[in-house]
Amino acid sequence: MPGSSRLPVSLRDSFAVAQQASGRQRILSLSINTYVLRNLVFALFLLRWSRVFLLNLRGYGLLGSLRRIYAAVRRAAYGVFFRLPVVRGRIRAQVDEAIGQLERKLVPAGPDVQRFTRLPPEAWSDERVQRELETLAGMEHTRWEDGRVSGAVYHGGKDLARIQTEAYEMFAVANPIHPDVFPGVRKMEAEIVAMVLSMFNAPEGAAGVTTSGGTESILSAVLSAREKARAERGITEPEMILPETAHTAFRKGGTYFGIKIHYVPCPAPTYKAQTSRISRLINRNTILLVGSAPNFPHGIIDDIAALSRLAVRHKLPLHVDCCLGSFLMPFLSRAGFPSETVDFRLPGVTSISVDTHKYGFAPKGNSCLLYRTRALRAHQYFVCPDWPGGVYASPGLAGSRPGALIAATWASLVRTGEEGYVSATHRIVGAAKRLEDALRRHPGLAPHLRVLGRPLVSCVAFGGAPAGAGAAAGAADGGVNVYAVADAMAARGWHLNALQDPPAVHVAVTVPVSGAVEELIGDLVASGKEGAKEEKIREMRGQAVNGKKKDGDNAVLYGVAGSLPHKGVVVELARGFLDTLYKA
Ligand SMILES: *Cc1c(COP(=O)(O)O)cnc(C)c1O
Repeated sequence: MPGSSRLPVSLRDSFAVAQQASGRQRILSLSINTYVLRNLVFALFLLRWSRVFLLNLRGYGLLGSLRRIYAAVRRAAYGVFFRLPVVRGRIRAQVDEAIGQLERKLVPAGPDVQRFTRLPPEAWSDERVQRELETLAGMEHTRWEDGRVSGAVYHGGKDLARIQTEAYEMFAVANPIHPDVFPGVRKMEAEIVAMVLSMFNAPEGAAGVTTSGGTESILSAVLSAREKARAERGITEPEMILPETAHTAFRKGGTYFGIKIHYVPCPAPTYKAQTSRISRLINRNTILLVGSAPNFPHGIIDDIAALSRLAVRHKLPLHVDCCLGSFLMPFLSRAGFPSETVDFRLPGVTSISVDTHKYGFAPKGNSCLLYRTRALRAHQYFVCPDWPGGVYASPGLAGSRPGALIAATWASLVRTGEEGYVSATHRIVGAAKRLEDALRRHPGLAPHLRVLGRPLVSCVAFGGAPAGAGAAAGAADGGVNVYAVADAMAARGWHLNALQDPPAVHVAVTVPVSGAVEELIGDLVASGKEGAKEEKIREMRGQAVNGKKKDGDNAVLYGVAGSLPHKGVVVELARGFLDTLYKA
């Protein structure tokens, strides 16, 4: 710089000093800024995690939190152990063997089995198709027709099936996405929703949708609650609180929609969700409370009145899962049984799922989701105003939907009527009471088996009765191995539902099961004895018995599942099972 050389030395020096100083200051202020920023970030991090920590502490208690940490560490340790190459290889081999067995059981093989894995080059005749369909319907199966299957088929009467088929045929091409093309389907869907709303004492302004089944109803209710919390309270890290016994569809919703789940125990003797625990787990990220009426595992109705009070106090939505209760809960009193109020008469209840395809006797693929207000329903709507395909709006997850199923559902509802549902409730719940009574009092059952809680509806769960020490897999309290009982029942042609935590089995009584309940009790007496005997043998010989006597499916699966803290093996088995479903 030519100018600077003409400056007096002192001035030049002081200029240099000043320049240096300002540079240092810049550096200083820069470092102060990053210092402040870093600390701010750290403070926020600390705040966030200490908040999470404190909320957990409040929600689960000190002991509960420690137990959760211990369980997580143990799970992680087992995870590492299972990934060791040697262990992994052995597990893989066993899983493959189990899946191979499953495949041999489910997928017909042999030279006389015809497989159709490509389109036939030429059209089959009607007769050919009918013949094949008859062969398929006649494949060897567990006899639901004789009432041997818990749940699954809820009606199966010939008269109802005929009118359903007629309705299906008349609306086979219908799709409610085009209400102008199929106005009758639109009318029927709206009427199904209105009929079910009135069964559940919906107030003025209530609304609903039909869905493809209980799972979709629950997913939609979870989505609506999440969207409501986002829109009204800006919640971006949503959480919901689930009774452990709530249907898996809620867990699926948590996974699909990115919602953290807190689980609440439902312990003996009532097996109802602990309301005090739910209360402690509520925080500002909570978007939904859940109760079942009744739940799937044990057929127990949660304390919906207490949940409703909680929901009102915290201004939170409360979903009541009445998928299984469906068309029984509303008619219990009129059928002469003790009942509980679980519907919109409780002010905190904001949505209810009701499976028309269970005790509503509609064909599979239909359920209703009811909302207290239209605004709640609007939160599950999907609207896209700027799609090149046109302005798009659909009420729920599906796009096109089967109008034929709506017609068949509508036909089922009006063909059965209140009178029909009351008498079905009388028959079904009566049979469940008969089974429960036998389990509690029959000298051939009461000593071995124990009913879980006080079921009020159609589903009765039982575990092995406690008897001395020496717990074995499936008999947590050392009594009968209830999975061995289920396996012994399977050998007699029954399909009961195996449950876990605690080891138990349930029967969901349906119309077909109600006609076979005396046989069911008789076979349970025989199977209970075997379950008890097997447990004795096992105790006497220790686990050596495992190698010699072949365990049944339930005993094997839940024996493995129950004894491992890390469920990786079970997950692999289950995935293999799903693959098997698609082996042609
Ligand atoms: C059956 C059932 C559901 C939903 O099941 P889908 O198979 O999807 O219809 C949900 N909750 C309970 C309690 C159920 O029993």
